[in-house]
Amino acid sequence: MYRIGIDVGGTNIAMGLVDESYKIIEKKSIKTSENSSPKEMIRAIADGIHELMDSSDLIEAIGIGVPGTAELDTGKILYANNLGFEDVPFLTELKKTLGPELADKIFFENDANAAAIGEYITGGYDVPVFVMVTLGTGIGGGIIVNGKLLRGCNYAAAEFGHMSINFDGCDCNCGRKGCFEDYASAFALVEQAKEAMKDAKESLLWKNIENIDELDGEKFFEAVKAGDAVAAKVLDRYCDYLSEGLTNLINILQPNVIVLCGGITRAADMFLDKVKEKVARDVYSRASRINTEITLAKGISDSGDVGIIGAALVDKM
Ligand SMILES: [Zn+2]
Repeated sequence: MYRIGIDVGGTNIAMGLVDESYKIIEKKSIKTSENSSPKEMIRAIADGIHELMDSSDLIEAIGIGVPGTAELDTGKILYANNLGFEDVPFLTELKKTLGPELADKIFFENDANAAAIGEYITGGYDVPVFVMVTLGTGIGGGIIVNGKLLRGCNYAAAEFGHMSINFDGCDCNCGRKGCFEDYASAFALVEQAKEAMKDAKESLLWKNIENIDELDGEKFFEAVKAGDAVAAKVLDRYCDYLSEGLTNLINILQPNVIVLCGGITRAADMFLDKVKEKVARDVYSRASRINTEITLAKGISDSGDVGIIGAALVDKM
């Protein structure tokens, strides 16, 4: 039997046929425009499902990861700012479009939750309290307790990115100030580096760059590796921000493990030890015999596949 996983993003819908050993055996990608209506998107997804089913119709489940709040009991996406969706009966309409034969096999879930489910299952974690933190454009996450995803009373639990670490801090798009993701996302790190390099023309951050907007995570970490002092200082401050948020999560949840994922973790050898040190120093339970292990994703490490495989497994929780 196979599963279909669908990762709905702001500019792209990635889909894949996933086998029983969690390998993607066929992939599809559909471009969406910013103004794609829910109806157009649902049509495109339905067509994609049918195309994947040409390869095999032995489909056990079809899972969809969506940005924003996936309200499981109504089938609605309550709010997804980067899709421009508000109160959209997404799953209900998709089921209608696909017809009764497939309707019972379709499930949806918030995309960060889906990634956490995927990592938990494919990584073979056997721990009572599991937390995954995804560092990307923003910060997302998932909490799994005793093998069950913690969804919260309104399906919006684990929005780690919108935990404030500084209430006098910068404005967040959620309406609060000083949110974790505005300081510790991969996007935020690059923004911090851009700010620092403005007054440091000698910095290696300017190497091979004509315009400041060409700086990305990869070029940033190249500068760190080459021993650039400006980049090192930015990264050190970033470690403070990241460990501040992780310490909050540990103080509240006391997880056995926090798994970090996202493209930035490919450079973890340059910051993870420092983060672990800071957390170990600050965490409330530091005298405890057992402490939270902070580690990198091991199940589905390729960031492009996390969304598809995680989505394919969402009905398992
Ligand atoms: Zn926020």
